Amino acid sequence: MNPMSDIASSEPKAGDKADRRGGRAGAPLRPGTLYVVATPIGNMGDLSPRAREVLGSVALVAAEDTRHTGQLLTHAGITARLVSLHEHNEAGRVDEILARLRAGDSVALVADAGTPLISDPGYRLLAALRAANLPVSPVPGPCAAIAALSVAGLPTDRFYFEGFLPARSVARTARLQQLALRGETLVFYESTNRLGGTLADAIAVFGPERAAAVGRELTKLHETVYRGSLAEVRAAVLADPGGERGECTWLVAGTGVERAPDEAELARVVGILAAELPASQAASLAARLTGASRKTAYRLASSRASGQAAGED
Ligand code: SAM
Repeated sequence: MNPMSDIASSEPKAGDKADRRGGRAGAPLRPGTLYVVATPIGNMGDLSPRAREVLGSVALVAAEDTRHTGQLLTHAGITARLVSLHEHNEAGRVDEILARLRAGDSVALVADAGTPLISDPGYRLLAALRAANLPVSPVPGPCAAIAALSVAGLPTDRFYFEGFLPARSVARTARLQQLALRGETLVFYESTNRLGGTLADAIAVFGPERAAAVGRELTKLHETVYRGSLAEVRAAVLADPGGERGECTWLVAGTGVERAPDEAELARVVGILAAELPASQAASLAARLTGASRKTAYRLASSRASGQAAGED
């Protein structure tokens, strides 16, 4: 396969009037293209003119929940043919959508709210389009993670998007412990009513003083942004009668420092793995477990392997 063909297939074709720099909303759709369309996370005013245009022009809109998206489209005065695509039927729907695209129809993919594929269905479809080298085009817009990050007042130069943590406290705490040494701001989605418990677990892992924020019901009537230390944010959420209601995205500052690999820990891990595995495999696992570079881990693993070999002679 031509390595450039994937890139070329998403470029405007000769005679195509789409002007990406000008951002003209009325540009014609490209045939046989999947448009990945972001929709509002609350405020209908956030549906972009281009999203309207695309949703109103494609042959088919693949939606997580056709009833929910039907209401959005009706509200926006758009008539469209809807087909459901959710985590339980995505595998089966992929071939059907690929066939429509190959026949030259344009299709839009939408989630219930926000950007498709961001903790939402669509990955299988996009992976299949990638494998088949079929064209795709984003119609960017709302995303709760980015909206919350944009107002949290926490470092944004680097951030780590975790999405949903496990629902049970033990598993959630274990996952938070794995993230505790990360240097960058961490961004989490959370289900309604679980925020107080999750923030309690976060306090146990990160400590009460770590800077944090919660964006609740962003862009909606009861939008609230809580900022402060983890303990302050949790107290504010619990003191607010509506604090645990609605949709929320929460964030916590990272350590602010790159995690320096601990030499003694690295040597210990390499020692255990190199006794059982070839040096390259031991090095790659040890690097992943400790955060050290693979090169350093390999140097240790191979010197240990040659030491063992010399001892056996
Ligand atoms: N794909 C979506 C996006 O781009 O934002 C996210 C979908 S995920 C299934 C839903 C989660 O996003 C919610 O549980 C909540 O954590 C977060 N969320 C959605 N809408 C929100 C809002 N208006 N305010 C704060 N968080 C929101």
